Amino acid sequence: MKQSKMLIQTLREVPRDADVVSQQLMMRAGMIQKLAAGIYDYLPLALKSIRKFEQIVREELAKDGCQELLMPNVQPAELWQESGRWTFYGKELLRFKDRKDAEFCMGPTHEEVITDIVRKNVRSYKQLPMNLFQIQTKFRDEIRPRFGLMRGREFIMKDAYSFHVDDADADLGYRAMYDAYTRIFSRLGVKFRSVEADSGAIGGSFTHEFHVLAGSGEDGILSCDACAYTSNIEKTEAPRIPAEDHGVSVPLSPCHFSTPGVTAMEEQAKGFKDADHDGLPLHQTSKVYWLEAELATHTDEAGLATRKVAVAAILRGDHELNPIKVKNFLGAAELAPMADGEDFTGAAAGFLGPLPKEGTRHWALHHAANVATGDNPVYLVDRSLEGATNLTCGANVTDRHHFGFDPARDLPGATFLDLRLAQEGDLCPRCGKGHYEAFRGIEVGQVFKLGTKYSKSMGCTYVDEHGKENPMVMGCYGIGITRTVAAAIEQNYDADGIIWPWPIAPYQVHLLDLDPANPQVREVAEALERDLEAAGFEVLHDDREGMSPGAKFKDADLLGFPLRAMVGSKGLKDGVVELRDRRTKEVRKFKREAMVEEVTQARDRILKELEAQGGR
Ligand code: ATP
Ligand code: MG
Repeated sequence: MKQSKMLIQTLREVPRDADVVSQQLMMRAGMIQKLAAGIYDYLPLALKSIRKFEQIVREELAKDGCQELLMPNVQPAELWQESGRWTFYGKELLRFKDRKDAEFCMGPTHEEVITDIVRKNVRSYKQLPMNLFQIQTKFRDEIRPRFGLMRGREFIMKDAYSFHVDDADADLGYRAMYDAYTRIFSRLGVKFRSVEADSGAIGGSFTHEFHVLAGSGEDGILSCDACAYTSNIEKTEAPRIPAEDHGVSVPLSPCHFSTPGVTAMEEQAKGFKDADHDGLPLHQTSKVYWLEAELATHTDEAGLATRKVAVAAILRGDHELNPIKVKNFLGAAELAPMADGEDFTGAAAGFLGPLPKEGTRHWALHHAANVATGDNPVYLVDRSLEGATNLTCGANVTDRHHFGFDPARDLPGATFLDLRLAQEGDLCPRCGKGHYEAFRGIEVGQVFKLGTKYSKSMGCTYVDEHGKENPMVMGCYGIGITRTVAAAIEQNYDADGIIWPWPIAPYQVHLLDLDPANPQVREVAEALERDLEAAGFEVLHDDREGMSPGAKFKDADLLGFPLRAMVGSKGLKDGVVELRDRRTKEVRKFKREAMVEEVTQARDRILKELEAQGGR
């Protein structure tokens, strides 16, 4: 392909509104162009990478007998009302009406449509299991579209859905997709991890995410250095840290310490002084997060009815809360910090505590006689405080802290559980030997065991061998195609530009004619383009006239194809052409006749290195 004829406009400057490397480089390399917030044109170079990745996905899914179909992007509201998601999906669902006032949405995902297809077409257990997938444009009206293709509003996704006769078979289907994803991301040639992820509170479901490792990743991942346990920090189990011995247990001493105006935990701990103490270690302090949870009560015609409950999450002063653990434990639809916690407890921020002060709403709820209404606050205590005594806690009186707090004694009925945000260096609770290492990751794919959520609400059933009707058990499996291409760049670049992994490089060889005005050079470059293409390589031939070699080198580095072949007047005089490896910057000079052989060897070496570095 001749570069002079190709739609590539490179930019020297970093575009103003591009805030991550992949977005900057893809824009500068003339791969993508912004049309509106979170909506991009995929120009020819970008589309080549996207198509290559799609091809890898198709080939690997074909090995598991997955069938490709294509569903409409515009979906009728009725299907979403049937599944119950029309009201619950929120503003990410772009809704609109047609000329007859019928409601529709742009598909952010396709569980409803695929379930509708399968319920209309599959009747017997003999037809199952079945796995159907598509590669298609999705629309999610993200609140903050950003980072180019990484978090767009419109993006390309591969979404697959599997249907099974029972749970055990769904587990097999899940495992097969997990393995297919491992093959897909290994072939891509990026460093990745599969991680246990949060599946919300839906019982019986579980999920793994696949992450490309990159410093710019939005997700925190913790991985044990001794066993295979790797998980999204949202979900990582924190080990129970045995309580320190803080001496003989004392009774609660209300408002014991006074630290006027000091709200930072560490400063407060230093100021906790009495006859026996000159400041206290942070692990002898406790803190409380007052939250408000929306719990489902029942479903009626108007949808799901919920009630609000006050929740106190109590942790050691030096530990952080993982709110997802609270949300999942309570099975809450929503969980948020209590908006009016100061009014509720009766103290200024920094002095809120778990024990009620007379005359407050907290007191009234705490002592509410009718426990059955479930209005009383829920007290949750992190398991690292099990057995802890002589702690401090906020007194619910501004400037004051209690001393002698013993969660089990002072909050009878409180639940002890894992509430803490795990962190790097924690002892792994799975194997008890290793410690957590931290990584940043970009979620590029997710496998999810759905269970019967959609098949039950939408009546997607099959008839078993005894003639009995049962709901199908489902799984769903997504890969962000466009996000993955961007993530590969986030992991593979340098100061000069992109360094494409071979399998998804738009072209494999960038052939630079450094002196197109010289007919001899031009002739050799043309011949090399033909020879390399005949040998099966994809070549972009920079035949542009009136450009200095320096400018061509800069563009070639920016575009970042794995190999750069160069022909110039000077080299030809000595009878040589050159080949440069984008990643190692190593240059080899040889006779022009050796080009195809040299490129072949370089490819084999690069692919071998890729294979060695794959994920785990
Ligand atoms: P995220 O947590 O990043 O918002 P998600 O978990 O909501 O993503 P899924 O519903 O699991 O996304 O979608 C499957 C895949 O689609 C994701 O793993 C991701 O690679 C991709 N994806 C999701 N949202 C976007 C987006 N806004 N832009 C680009 N790709 C996306
Ligand atoms: Mg996801």
